[in-house]
Amino acid sequence: TPVIVAIDGPSGTGKSSTSKAVAAELGLSYLDTGAQYRAMTWWMLSNDVDVDDPAQVALAADKPVIVSGSDPSAPTITVDGADASGPIRTAEVTAAVSAVSAVPEVRRRMVELQRAAAAQAPAGIVVEGRDIGTTVLPDATVKIFLTASPEARAARRGGEIGAKAAADLAATREALIKRDAADSGRKTSPLAKAADAVEVDTTELTLDQVIECVVTLIEE
Ligand code: C5P
Repeated sequence: TPVIVAIDGPSGTGKSSTSKAVAAELGLSYLDTGAQYRAMTWWMLSNDVDVDDPAQVALAADKPVIVSGSDPSAPTITVDGADASGPIRTAEVTAAVSAVSAVPEVRRRMVELQRAAAAQAPAGIVVEGRDIGTTVLPDATVKIFLTASPEARAARRGGEIGAKAAADLAATREALIKRDAADSGRKTSPLAKAADAVEVDTTELTLDQVIECVVTLIEE
């Protein structure tokens, strides 16, 4: 039977790097659900939907065609056939994504795509997100919840976006904390650790150590 791995946690915990490496090592498919919410958000911003108006977002939620590749060594995402991998990482999308993700119609649509991807993965799949273990795939074989101190998370995210000055890091930290609070506080499937998830605190671990830890949990 295919192995289904759910990896949840806030941003900056090493979720994406870990999930891709674990999937590649074990020959599993890979799905970045955050990229799907970002793709939805990018489409809304590009099509003049007011992302702060949940009614407008709900009406538009069915419109974009979002397709994710499943290869962990070359993740892809398209919106209406166009490559979205660059535009979904902009600061504008990052700032708007929590509001779009809080709208139930958006989540319903994304969860449908995510369950279909898991059902189609031949050997199994590593799915990363915020509500995978609790809502999307409650019967997952293994559930991991990654955490890290706010300092470690801001430093990692700052490294990704090239922030060097202390002021940039402080701003990154504030933005991260704000986004996590919004993701944890929404009514529909918030960022949460499933009761049967294994929590891994990555603050003092290298990426290789986190990968090894997760692979061991899957192989147990
Ligand atoms: O993982 P990433 O930081 O790219 O996720 C972007 C945003 O997408 C999160 O801040 C959250 O608002 C939303 N998201 C979600 N549920 C998921 C994955 C991501 O609401 N399963």
